[in-house]
Amino acid sequence: MNLRKCISCGKRDDKFKFIRINKIKNGDSKFEIRISDSNTTNHVDGRTAYLCPNNECLSLAKKKSRIERSLKCKINKSVYDEIDNLLNLKK
Ligand SMILES: [Zn+2]
Repeated sequence: MNLRKCISCGKRDDKFKFIRINKIKNGDSKFEIRISDSNTTNHVDGRTAYLCPNNECLSLAKKKSRIERSLKCKINKSVYDEIDNLLNLKK
């Protein structure tokens, strides 16, 4: 089994149970942030942060800038909004 760790609570679980935040290189110094939910299985290159699909872990990640630290880049507020939307869709 391929275990991954949530950037907020530190829980370890199968990587497909997490929301994945990928940083994808898009040219030399550019990158894009792509969010995929647990049902998406396509492989992407680049750094990935894993987050439990719940509001507690999302708000903690936001408060402590955990995605920034994990992906080592500036994260737009819209990224958090996008994860928020994804969570609401799952409800
Ligand atoms: Zn978590």
